[in-house]
Amino acid sequence: MQLKNLINGEFVAPQSGTYLDNYDPARAEVYSQLPDSNELDVVLAVQAANKAFTKWSVTPVEARAQILYRIADLIEENLEKLAEAESRDVGKPLALARKVDIPRAAQNFRFFAGQILHHQEASTYAEGKALNYSLRQPVGVAGLISPWNLPLYLLTWKIAPALACGNTVVCKPSEVTPMTAFLLGEILQQANLPPGVCNIIFGRGEVAGRTLVEHPAVPLISFTGGTDTGAKIALAAAPQFKKLSLELGGKNANIVLKDADLKKAVQTSLRSSFLNQGQICLCGSRIYVQQDVYDAFMDQFVSETEKLVVGDPKDEKSFMGPLVSAAHLEKVQQAISQAQQEGGKILTGGQAPEGLPEELKSGYFLRPTVIADLSQCSTLHQEEIFGPVVTVQPFKYAHEAVKAANTSSYGLAASLWTQNLTQAHKLASQIQAGTVWVNTWMNRDLRMPFGGMKSSGLGREGGEHSIDFFTEQKTVCVGLE
Ligand code: NDP
Repeated sequence: MQLKNLINGEFVAPQSGTYLDNYDPARAEVYSQLPDSNELDVVLAVQAANKAFTKWSVTPVEARAQILYRIADLIEENLEKLAEAESRDVGKPLALARKVDIPRAAQNFRFFAGQILHHQEASTYAEGKALNYSLRQPVGVAGLISPWNLPLYLLTWKIAPALACGNTVVCKPSEVTPMTAFLLGEILQQANLPPGVCNIIFGRGEVAGRTLVEHPAVPLISFTGGTDTGAKIALAAAPQFKKLSLELGGKNANIVLKDADLKKAVQTSLRSSFLNQGQICLCGSRIYVQQDVYDAFMDQFVSETEKLVVGDPKDEKSFMGPLVSAAHLEKVQQAISQAQQEGGKILTGGQAPEGLPEELKSGYFLRPTVIADLSQCSTLHQEEIFGPVVTVQPFKYAHEAVKAANTSSYGLAASLWTQNLTQAHKLASQIQAGTVWVNTWMNRDLRMPFGGMKSSGLGREGGEHSIDFFTEQKTVCVGLE
């Protein structure tokens, strides 16, 4: 299967005629190809988006919302096809794609359709002197760049608010997992989204992504991906003063206090450590457990980790599939070796699973891995690994856990496990992270601000924050004297 770019409502081959291979990570085999788009493809997509902006930006919100609702319906009607594609492309368990990724993609469109319909603006009346009101207008062509771990969910998290606000967009999905973005293109056509309103360019970040970021007719960039790439994008966007939203990496602390509901903490920590093979920016990759319950927590956590089934993503029994690519597996394995060199002790995992069927033997599988005895300044404690690897450390007093959590240069999310609400509120306010979960994990409400502190990003999206980002706000002052 050869994917095509979506430009001006039509699927077109890349200008260069060259393609990149796309792998099925469970079988380590090429199963499709995607355009290796160059500068010209991006320029054509931006031209199409610019042309479409004239009409889309003044299309009444009711009409825009109606199309977004239709897209949400079509995603749900195609749930099975999209889930299968996402599972094969990423290696994530089909059951997970069915239950989380695809429904959340539909929810993104439905939520922002409703949000824009119900949006209200402020006005002030200055005692007979002036009436002020705030006028919101779309910014223009938005460049949307997304990563490989939650491909459809994270791309639609950007497309939906951008279109709801009246912008047109050029998307650059990850070259590693392009399939559901391509299928979304078909859905956009079926939903009668006007040509050029949403364009999708496949290819390499260093070529297609960079050109999009640098293009002078793209005044706004929303990027989700790694911190190093985010830094490059910030540098490229700065001279043109582009609006920029950066959702970057995380090294999230998961803090278990002695009064926690241990059973719940263990069960949720298994998910927060290893869901999607640990390839979620919100995964809690550093677990800190209060000394008093350390042994009890660890006994349960390690034995439950050993029960997790790693295997064919299509199999209902699989909790984990393969990592996304050979290069990524190698990076994660190197991090594990380095942790051992730095004194870390592997309590479980660190190897490929045994007993895989013949067709999966070359796949990029790794058992969930738990590492103890590392110092706070070890590489594994400081750097994002983005795989099924967690470190565990005991602590004596709660303030020590907060200090450890905050030593990271990242500040995306954290989890706290305690039955003491006073303590929970106090610690939540002290932790440097964009989201702090108490006795839960990955519970998302799209109305709430989402984003990271420190090296985890810049800006907030979600609810009104997305409206803020995807519009320019203007104060109109009418003199009344
Ligand atoms: P990357 O930063 O490697 O890539 C993200 C996207 O940027 C891809 O589409 C990539 O293209 C593109 N890109 C690469 N270089 C450039 C460039 N110079 N200019 C413009 N675009 C470029 O991230 P990954 O895809 O590896 O995703 C994993 C990372 O994403 C992790 O660090 C994770 O924490 C983070 N992430 C953050 C989230 C958050 O909400 N904070 C959520 C999910 C993930 P290509 O694929 O071709 O390289």
